Amino acid sequence: MNTPHINIVIPLYNEEEVFQQLIDRLTALMESFDKSIEVILVDDGSRDATAQLMADLALKDSRFQSIVLSRNFGHQTALTAGLQQVSATDAVLIIDADLQDPPELLDKLYQYYEDGYDVVYAVRKNRKEGFLKKLAYKSFYRLMDKISYIQIPLDTGDFSLISAKVANLLNEMPEESRFLRGMRSWLGFKQIGIEYDREERKSGESKYSLRKLFQLAFNGVFNFSEAPIKLITNLGLLTVISSFAYLGYVIAKKLIYGNVPEGFTGLLFVLVLFGGIQLLSLGLIGEYVLRIFFQVKQRPLFVIKEKIKNGKIKGKD
Ligand code: UDP
Ligand code: MG
Repeated sequence: MNTPHINIVIPLYNEEEVFQQLIDRLTALMESFDKSIEVILVDDGSRDATAQLMADLALKDSRFQSIVLSRNFGHQTALTAGLQQVSATDAVLIIDADLQDPPELLDKLYQYYEDGYDVVYAVRKNRKEGFLKKLAYKSFYRLMDKISYIQIPLDTGDFSLISAKVANLLNEMPEESRFLRGMRSWLGFKQIGIEYDREERKSGESKYSLRKLFQLAFNGVFNFSEAPIKLITNLGLLTVISSFAYLGYVIAKKLIYGNVPEGFTGLLFVLVLFGGIQLLSLGLIGEYVLRIFFQVKQRPLFVIKEKIKNGKIKGKD
């Protein structure tokens, strides 16, 4: 295949159930769209038949590229691996494998690209997910908006069309813990949000475990906000000021009323409270230190086990 106009990057983790539906929708899209498209499928260490299905497809249809990672690196890293394979001249569409992000929206998003937007991100008008999950997502995005030092649009995931230029710039950002929607905002350029209805997952279950979701949220907070550190500083300052005020109060009381017995309960409360605050503060600082720790190691972000491009296994003839 010649250099495509558009790349579609899709990370897959145990998605054998939805695979055929996904490919059918993509193939239909490629047939109806008037620009050439190459799809980059990234297998994130699936334990089911996903990698095999991808290889079979990529070997017979050169419009599909298959990248298999050596283990499960997580959604954001799989996306990063996919972005690094991009060769499109125009733009890159990022979607999930489970068809929650309708690939057909490309048509609409691409019009904005042609109008000069470098990032066209899709904003979820409504989610078809459980009440608690929806509430958690909503609160997270609003919290992020309050504390982050860049403007990250609300209710927006990775589903977006980005120009090839922005894709290349993302590839040049070496950060280890990746929060792509934040990095995308940080880059700037002309960005616009387009509303869409987020579909239900077409098949299988969510591959985002609670642990992975928390990891993503933590990466968002600690990579794009200094608010937690500021909070500790302010809290510390407040503590010092109030303890001096309290000291003054006790001395004054003693001078005026003589020996006043102070309550043991109050003492215990303050002890426990500040023990807790100290642990929390250390934990918050630890989160930043942890990220520095991973960053200085300079490890590659991911390891590719197999790559099939233009119908051929790379590294072999
Ligand atoms: N995914 C991945 N690696 C993981 C977890 C998820 O590549 O460790 C992929 C998954 O196959 C899907 C996308 O990331 O294409 C979004 O995951 P999912 O739909 O399970 O998340 P949810 O929509 O439930 O937040
Ligand atoms: Mg999903």
